[in-house]
Amino acid sequence: MSAVLPSLDLPSYEEAAARVAVYAAQRSRVRPAQERVELGQASGRVLAQPLLADRDQPPFARSTRDGYACRVAEASTHKPLAIAGASRAGDPPSGPLSPGTAWEIMTGAPVPDGADAVAMLEHIEESPSSDRTSGHIRLLPPRTLKPGENIVAQGVQACAGDELLPAGTVLHSGQIALAATCGYASLDVCLRPRVAILTTGDELVPIDSSPAPGQIRNSNAPMLSSLVANAGGVPWILPTAADNPQALDEALSQAAAADLLLISGGVSAGKFDLVEAALSRIGAHFRFTGVRIQPGKPTVFGDLPRRTSTGSQPLPFFGLPGNPLSSAVSFLLFAAPVLAALAGNRESPPRFALAQLAPPADRHGKPDLTRFLPASCTFSASTDQPPQVSFVPWHGSGDLVALARSNCFLVVPQDVHSVAPGSLVRILLL
Ligand code: AMP
Ligand code: MG
Repeated sequence: MSAVLPSLDLPSYEEAAARVAVYAAQRSRVRPAQERVELGQASGRVLAQPLLADRDQPPFARSTRDGYACRVAEASTHKPLAIAGASRAGDPPSGPLSPGTAWEIMTGAPVPDGADAVAMLEHIEESPSSDRTSGHIRLLPPRTLKPGENIVAQGVQACAGDELLPAGTVLHSGQIALAATCGYASLDVCLRPRVAILTTGDELVPIDSSPAPGQIRNSNAPMLSSLVANAGGVPWILPTAADNPQALDEALSQAAAADLLLISGGVSAGKFDLVEAALSRIGAHFRFTGVRIQPGKPTVFGDLPRRTSTGSQPLPFFGLPGNPLSSAVSFLLFAAPVLAALAGNRESPPRFALAQLAPPADRHGKPDLTRFLPASCTFSASTDQPPQVSFVPWHGSGDLVALARSNCFLVVPQDVHSVAPGSLVRILLL
């Protein structure tokens, strides 16, 4: 057993995040098992194999405009060019284009061989003949054309066989569209890690019951479940454990089948905060037992020894303080990166952004802690303004109303006592 005493080792946010990053990097060397899913079910999943181009992209020189394919040298003289034919999207490539002619073309159609630009319809004067097939067009002065204008050449985006996306990419709409265009009706994706969620506390009652005086409903289980699902894991909610050693030992033994264990509550210094002791009894290796952040200071991180059929595979765990905002912040900062690593995701959370602090501002707090304060950011800021963020009034880390009215946490660095309106600040995205 190698318990780290909080009084001896209370890392800063940066130091704790670095320890998590080292652990996540180590775990991400083992690629997760994979499964095949239909493309329609692949949103949010992580690619297990690189995505390869099945043919050139675009597969043919493609017109980006409705207009006339022509030779730049000829069209730029502004002399009439005979219309030699027409192509619409879906037609096979045509050509070669005879000298002195132009080819009517629609957006997405293959550009005929011999043409080196497409003149936009709006820049053309059409002079149809009576039989419609031998009409003429003329590029209107002072318009000129540049070689390649309004054409995307074959293969400029990718060549057949190229790796378009590496394994570990999270699939969103753009990646799914690319997979579709390359003919992937299904994809090999990483199995999602199973994340056990163990809430602890004698005061907790289920959502559908009426709390007696002094009791509260268990809101952390569904909150963590939502955070886990958003971060690419499969939540597995265990029965709530009471604040006594036997109940905790029993509950922890159930979690052995998980890939990651989240324990909510019971990690502070109170008389009934018994989680660390229970973890120690089953041989936990602690990597930190507290971080200089607010909220979330009592957060615990480590792993539990475990033997599997394939060898020894420790079970990482996080002890998250029970207050909902503390749990949420600690999850985003520390548990999410480990979950991403277990999920095979090559992008590592947390996600931060810069925003401008809108008045009224200022929160004073303990200067030796990095603070993550509930805030609301407007991303639809005008073109000359960065996103605007403002503090959400809150009454401490149990304030679920404030959490629900927030879409980020404003980061106040450890050495900063207060932040002035108008300054650029870092936000942690929810
Ligand atoms: P603890 O970390 O166990 O000392 O709990 C800190 C605070 O969070 C207490 O006010 C608890 O009642 C509250 N709390 C603990 N667990 C939960 C939970 N699952 N849902 C909502 N509040 C909780
Ligand atoms: Mg408790």
